[in-house]
Amino acid sequence: MAETIQAIRGMNDILPVEGASWQFFEKVTREWLAAYGYNQIRMPIVESTHLFIRGVGEHTDIVEKEMYAFEDSLNGEKLTLRPEGTAGCVRACIEHGLLYNQTQRLWYTGPMFRHERPQKGRYRQFHQLGVEAFGFATPDVDAEMIVMLADLWPRLGLSGMCLELNSLGNMDERSAHRAELIKYLEGYIDILDEDGKRRLYTNPLRVLDTKNPALQAMAENAPQLMDFLGEESKSHFEAVKALLDDAGIAYKLNSRLVRGLDYYNRTVFEWTTTQLGAQGTVAAGGRYDGLVEQLGGKPCPAVGFAIGIERIMLLLEANEVAIPAQQADVYVIHQGEAAARNAFSVARQLRAAGLNVIYHGGSASFKSQFKKADQSGARFAVVIGGGEVEAQTANLKTLTGELQGAQQTLAQDQLAQAIARI
Ligand code: ATP
Ligand code: MG
Repeated sequence: MAETIQAIRGMNDILPVEGASWQFFEKVTREWLAAYGYNQIRMPIVESTHLFIRGVGEHTDIVEKEMYAFEDSLNGEKLTLRPEGTAGCVRACIEHGLLYNQTQRLWYTGPMFRHERPQKGRYRQFHQLGVEAFGFATPDVDAEMIVMLADLWPRLGLSGMCLELNSLGNMDERSAHRAELIKYLEGYIDILDEDGKRRLYTNPLRVLDTKNPALQAMAENAPQLMDFLGEESKSHFEAVKALLDDAGIAYKLNSRLVRGLDYYNRTVFEWTTTQLGAQGTVAAGGRYDGLVEQLGGKPCPAVGFAIGIERIMLLLEANEVAIPAQQADVYVIHQGEAAARNAFSVARQLRAAGLNVIYHGGSASFKSQFKKADQSGARFAVVIGGGEVEAQTANLKTLTGELQGAQQTLAQDQLAQAIARI
């Protein structure tokens, strides 16, 4: 036997038993996105490496150490498997002129790639559902994004989600704070870890985002960005909070919430759960008014978020949410060559009538075919043997429910109607 080949570490197969949960999530989210007027966009998985360096930020975890970047072996182009969707979405909008004198409410979904240490809820290929709104500068759309997610949790049957909220202000406010913060951090240069020392001058806000327990006190007493916000940023944030209050959505202000990507300004938020250990962030996002211009477009305000789908799957399981399963209506059983051929076309007729039909592939004893029919969960068996072919009839047997075991012989062209009646 040839040696087997395994999947790449951190890149998982999604197996048939998980299919129903993924489809449940897809169905629920499509209806939810439609309810808020969002339209789908589909971007390529591979983009120019430069897009992410410029779009996500040179001094972020993603660009510094998580990107699957490679050279096209045919022409040497520098390419990257997308680590997130926002940069590609913005690129596509600029490229196709979707942002001129118009607003866009968009969503996309698909695999993302980050070279992280795989663990529960953290993989190297994972899936996001991303939502972005372009052309809205006002706080109502920040609030809409957050409220939308609050509405999603009950639709998915999930509870216990917490909202964390912060404002990062604008560029000027951030640089004033940044100067103070660097001064403050320089006083702690001796206790900063490797990451901290490296980021002190490149991305000092991220130094505060440390998970290192030795640095917690230092991070807690650092100058707060919130104290550097001007009137406009403050009133924008107040308006977001007021809309959340109106909607009855509770939040925790977290001044250390800075997000791992460089492009955010003003409102940032995370929806978290305590049910997934260290991988507790289920959805995250915020405003990124500068990104469109940074990627070569005309200035255009924007807000967005992404949901980590694998983390939702773990939550559906942990909460034992009942998932509607795909159900066969009919299992078609046959015996003999002529019957097999006849049953094959009867199965097609039943599907054309709108039923979900499993045709027994190959030949086997009636007994083993009935066993398969029971295992399939189908509500009915349609049985065709030599005699039925002659008479153009079939035996309809009820496999589940109160009428379990009931049988009747029917003309083949009456089957679909009879099933509909029962
Ligand atoms: P984390 O702090 O967990 O690394 P992040 O800030 O890097 O998350 P984002 O870039 O904001 O994450 O991505 C949005 C969401 O995508 C996250 O909240 C999470 O649910 C999910 N996500 C991010 N990275 C991974 C991963 N490697 N595996 C599975 N899901 C992920
Ligand atoms: Mg991360």
